[in-house]
Amino acid sequence: MAKNHYEVLVIGGGISGAALFYELAKYTDVKSIALVEKYDGLAKLNSSGTSNSQTIHCGDIETNYTVDKAKSVKRTAKMIEKYCLQYGYQDKFMFAHQKMAIGVGDEEVAYMRKRYEDFKELFPYLEVFEKDKLAQIEPKLIYDEQGNERPESIVGVGVESGEYSTVDFGQMTESLVENATKIEDKQTDVFLSSQVTNIKKFGKTHVVETANETFTADFVVVNAGAHSLYLAHRMGHGTDYGCLPMAGSFYMTTKKILNGKVYMVQHPKLPFAALHGDPDILANGFTRFGPTALALPKLERYHGNSTVIDFIRTLRFDTSVAKIFGDLLSDSDIRNYIFKNFMFEVPFINKRLFVQDARKIVPSLGLDDIEYADGFGGVRPQVLDKKNKKLMLGEASVNPGTGIIFNMTPSPGATSCLGNAERDVKSVCEYLGKTFNQKEFDKDLVE
Ligand SMILES: Cc1cc2nc3c(=O)[nH]c(=O)nc-3n(C[C@H](O)[C@H](O)[C@H](O)COP(=O)(O)OP(=O)(O)OC[C@H]3O[C@@H](n4cnc5c(N)ncnc54)[C@H](O)[C@@H]3O)c2cc1C
Repeated sequence: MAKNHYEVLVIGGGISGAALFYELAKYTDVKSIALVEKYDGLAKLNSSGTSNSQTIHCGDIETNYTVDKAKSVKRTAKMIEKYCLQYGYQDKFMFAHQKMAIGVGDEEVAYMRKRYEDFKELFPYLEVFEKDKLAQIEPKLIYDEQGNERPESIVGVGVESGEYSTVDFGQMTESLVENATKIEDKQTDVFLSSQVTNIKKFGKTHVVETANETFTADFVVVNAGAHSLYLAHRMGHGTDYGCLPMAGSFYMTTKKILNGKVYMVQHPKLPFAALHGDPDILANGFTRFGPTALALPKLERYHGNSTVIDFIRTLRFDTSVAKIFGDLLSDSDIRNYIFKNFMFEVPFINKRLFVQDARKIVPSLGLDDIEYADGFGGVRPQVLDKKNKKLMLGEASVNPGTGIIFNMTPSPGATSCLGNAERDVKSVCEYLGKTFNQKEFDKDLVE
């Protein structure tokens, strides 16, 4: 076999590619696996600790999830916890913070009480925190600048301790790759600074081209974030989908304000999670508020304008895309939301506007308490379903059944990395006639 031939080649060294690389090495009899990454390190884009909210989204406090969605993410969220515990990563890059979702005002309070009833069976540890309890455990939610109690009714639903809630997904990415490369009797090769420019198929073999090298592989999985769809389109796959990159920015406080994660009630019409406050594990636990949601005409942030053309190609603008945009913009709530999120990026006025919104969580928050977090925040590659003329909110995968898979992973893609990898490992094994050790996998990551 040629020197650069692998049974499976994974494109993209973010957390999705790393999780798949790890599972293939640990739980299958696939002998040779390559991980090919464009940048000179792993997790340089959305999986980096500064790009996302560092949250294990299991559905307990995410008010944009239904009970069914929470059931499915809970399984994969548990895998993150089990993986980290297996290697002793708790209190290294996985932490248990207090967390809650709050309802403010009578309507939201009633909503949160009802949500508690609907979700308590799935998450038996959830508690209802009344105003006096909140004043003890998360006092900044209750008092204004003068130390007076906020006038509105408020309730929190969450957990004080004992639940892992926070992960530096960047460090987890590195650990997955490191642990995969330690597995004996496997060829596990990592190629950094290797941007894949083209994938072709000759017979049963995929030819994967980078600027410096050409690889061949029996199976290819593309976990390249927004570029997954770009590469899919180049091969004539996934043409019913377009990609709308939604950047998310953050505002960082200049001191520790919240003791734990505080989420808010989701506006039912809005496609992205409501603003929340999280202790940043890479910034002394100072509170990070966000993320905002801004449509961006490029596939990567903080890398100049090199991906603008890629964006235009991946959007595949046509009447279906125009209809999706038209429908979104025709709703005044969504229109205002888009406008406001745009203003959150405009210097001088952005902070003033953002503070007004964040005061719903912390009434005493002042202009001097927060700064726009420069260099933080990534891009969610939201998928446009052109057939059904809809903006898809979750993840999407294109698997034509020909030995190649393309994954697009907006939030909560980091939480679901091990679950998504499990799905792909099964497809790989079925296609190549290999074996997936489900029993061992379940023992380590599910039971
Ligand atoms: C603001 C924000 C907040 C978020 N918060 C959370 C959260 O709290 N919890 C959660 O679970 N999820 C969250 N997410 C989502 C999460 O960050 C992503 O789903 C996850 O990081 C996706 O990982 P990935 O490996 O699929 O993609 P990425 O991390 O984007 O990695 C893709 C990799 O592919 C590489 N690549 C691209 N093109 C090529 C090419 N041609 N050749 C070789 N390599 C290539 C890139 O360099 C990159 O390393 C958030 C996202 C954002 C933007």
